[in-house]
Amino acid sequence: MEVKTLSQIDLSVNPVIAQMAIHNHEQILFCNDNATGLKAIIAVHNTILGPSLGGTRFWNYNNEAEALTDVLRLSRGMTYKSSVAGINLGGGKAVIIGDPKKLKNEALLRRFGKFVNSLGGKYITAEDVAMTSRDMEIIKMETDYVSGLPENMGGSGDPSPVTAYGVYVSMKASARETWGNDSLNGKKVLVQGIGHVGEVLVSHLTKEGAKVYVNDINQERLKEVANKYKAEVVSADTMFDLDIDIYAPCALGATINDNTLSKLKCKIICGAANNQLADETIHGEAVGQKGILYAPDFVVNAGGIINVYYELDGYNRERALAHAEKIYDTTFNLFQLAKAEKIATYKAANKLGEQRLEAIARINAVL
Ligand code: NAD
Repeated sequence: MEVKTLSQIDLSVNPVIAQMAIHNHEQILFCNDNATGLKAIIAVHNTILGPSLGGTRFWNYNNEAEALTDVLRLSRGMTYKSSVAGINLGGGKAVIIGDPKKLKNEALLRRFGKFVNSLGGKYITAEDVAMTSRDMEIIKMETDYVSGLPENMGGSGDPSPVTAYGVYVSMKASARETWGNDSLNGKKVLVQGIGHVGEVLVSHLTKEGAKVYVNDINQERLKEVANKYKAEVVSADTMFDLDIDIYAPCALGATINDNTLSKLKCKIICGAANNQLADETIHGEAVGQKGILYAPDFVVNAGGIINVYYELDGYNRERALAHAEKIYDTTFNLFQLAKAEKIATYKAANKLGEQRLEAIARINAVL
């Protein structure tokens, strides 16, 4: 079947299914409840590998179209992330539209839980922006299809240590590709954002003898973490001019853009933030042309989804960490694929994701 691209679709008359067709999304559930004010969209992108899993984002979107675009993009990203991470989960995501400070309460979350439940396990929810593990506990009152519960409820708790460990091993694989050995001893690493993931990453790096530079908009935290690990504080104005080996974006997305790429002098970009490339096709190619090795974000930060995956089957942190360690090989292998096929690393990562999906789709077709 011929599939139209976004620019060929007249969204004023075909606003939904035509958009789903672009990347073959399976199902969308639109949720509305006037009593609680709940307006949500649950998108199931792909369930070839298993039930779709992805967090719920509570966000004050400007309009429904923006929310739909976001949930479609994020759910597809989850399919690729889980596929490359080698776990048996499909890609899904949910968005709740509105200001969480004004709208979030028990009734709204439980109503949302009922909608999640109505999908019968095709979608499993988890935390994302403006959602906490306490919110997951509330959603759990209405559905078993929820993960990211606190440890005292048998859940996996904070995923950040597992995510940070995955970033650390991915950085080592990137070092091996760049310098022929994976030691980070003496390497100069800039960690932008020293929150839950960034701090644990700084701890791994300093243990290995790296020279760590840190930046964060939270000045109090910056001082505290810098003192604790003897890291050097750098300002936002000067950090991209530093002479460093590795840049680790661990705050927010789109920090690899025209402006930063014109300054960055590092050899490797490897960090936890989602959607680091401001424009995947433009900046995903530009990094390589600048001689920088880019470790694709969704491969690097898969520790979070790996952690949640092990919750579905009786949580065990050792197993989650052991799986996260495989991110080293995955990262290294994708660099080999990129070299062999002369393609950018972000493309190699997408290709790895697609290869596993296609292979498992074929075996699923056999009785
Ligand atoms: P966090 O909120 O704990 O930490 C983010 C830190 O970045 C905060 O200290 C914040 O002050 C800082 N920050 C925000 N804007 C900044 C800016 N402009 N410049 C510098 N610092 C800034 O978040 P986290 O859980 O540590 O996650 C970090 C990133 O990794 C996020 O992009 C998140 O989506 C991604 N991620 C996290 C996980 C996980 O397990 N927590 C998993 C996958 C991806």
